[in-house]
Amino acid sequence: MNISIIGTGYVGLVTGVCLSSLGMNVLCCDSDHEKIAKLKKGVLPIYEPNLENLLDNCTKHERLGFTTDINEAVDHSDILFITVNTPTLEDNTCDLHNVFGAAGAIAGCMTSRKIIVNKSTVPPGTGRKVREEMIRALETQHRQLEFDIVSNPEFLREGTAVYDFINTKRIVIGAESEYAISMIKEVYRDQIQCNTPVLVTDIVTAEMIKYASNSFLAAKIGLINEIAGICELCGADVMEVVRGMGLDSRIGPEFLNPGPGFGGSCFPKDVRALCGLAESQGVVPVILNSILESNKQQAEKMAMKISNAINGLDGRKIAVLGLSFKPGTDDIRESPTISIIKILLDGKANVSVYDPKAMENMKQEYPGLPLKYCSDAYSACIQSDCIVLAADWKEFSCLDFKKLKTIVRKTVFIDLRNAYEPSRIKDLGFIYEGVGRK
Ligand code: NAD
Repeated sequence: MNISIIGTGYVGLVTGVCLSSLGMNVLCCDSDHEKIAKLKKGVLPIYEPNLENLLDNCTKHERLGFTTDINEAVDHSDILFITVNTPTLEDNTCDLHNVFGAAGAIAGCMTSRKIIVNKSTVPPGTGRKVREEMIRALETQHRQLEFDIVSNPEFLREGTAVYDFINTKRIVIGAESEYAISMIKEVYRDQIQCNTPVLVTDIVTAEMIKYASNSFLAAKIGLINEIAGICELCGADVMEVVRGMGLDSRIGPEFLNPGPGFGGSCFPKDVRALCGLAESQGVVPVILNSILESNKQQAEKMAMKISNAINGLDGRKIAVLGLSFKPGTDDIRESPTISIIKILLDGKANVSVYDPKAMENMKQEYPGLPLKYCSDAYSACIQSDCIVLAADWKEFSCLDFKKLKTIVRKTVFIDLRNAYEPSRIKDLGFIYEGVGRK
């Protein structure tokens, strides 16, 4: 089976590599020439665990190729996945420029029936607009061709994207024709054979499932962060609260990790886009709006927690461990750590940072931030007044506190991920502050 992917970023590349590893002939297309040049040389433009080996394997077996030429991608396959980025516009609505650009370009060069599968996260109703855009593009060339639009939202998580794609918990197919439905089921044949549930619905509902899922998860994080704050006020331990809550099958234990707030390229932008969509129709989405506000406040509260622990920020040296929005990725998009760092810098603190994979992206995206980039966690902590664990990368899970004690100026450890047992760190002579615990 031949597949083309339009947009070779975190989702497109993982989708392309995984489908190729399942035996399909995949051609990944991107408008970014530098990215494609790297991939042609076997160099990954992103960090994602287990992706490199799969990429090597697929290119060796010649089942995976890369191009910047949309004509080549359209010729290659009857099924084209659109996996372009869909950022937020200034009015909080979703910027669909890349999606329409990709759809128009496909229509501009197709010569036979194609299935256009949208995997980018888009507001409900976008599939219909994509269809109109393609009809317009065909009409300007005085052509009439049959095509199918499918919505197939993606639920993978960066950091475990390969595993999530191959072992997906559900496949959502929003489509209008039996032909398109059967072709997409063929793409996911392996997962379906493993009894993965498949939900077939209409396009607008499939699009809404993705937004609703992300909004629900963001709300869950926001709620537990708020509960953590209240735990601090009344002396309860949020980690025990979480355990107790998670035992209730109606609640479940996942996504109940108190921390600095959610970030990344999905939750903030998708909740914003759903708010923007509701507001554009004259509806005030009270709960959705408050998810965003509470998340913004959470980062501010974490900066305040740091400041309080060291009696103010001015002139203090603070070591921040972890920059990505979560461990296992180099993605720093909307990382709450960046909001925290900006507040620390505004308060005239000196900030040293270390992240196993995200420092290059940070340097590139924020060249103006006066950060000291360090080669490992211990170098960042030298002479620090406070160590902040911001992203719980595996390599931060067994820090040598005896060694840290000899190199820091003040023994203050702020654990924004509740990665350590407070009593253990206190016994080692540190002042310990977690999120929502004693
Ligand atoms: P990304 O920014 O990593 O990659 C998007 C790629 O599309 C870029 O390489 C860009 O150059 C390319 N592109 C843009 N317009 C193009 C065009 N017209 N033709 C060819 N290439 C084009 O984005 P991402 O994180 O992979 O996200 C893609 C979509 O998937 C978004 O809608 C996102 O919300 C959704 N999504 C992301 C995740 C995630 O964890 N990153 C998970 C599920 C869904």
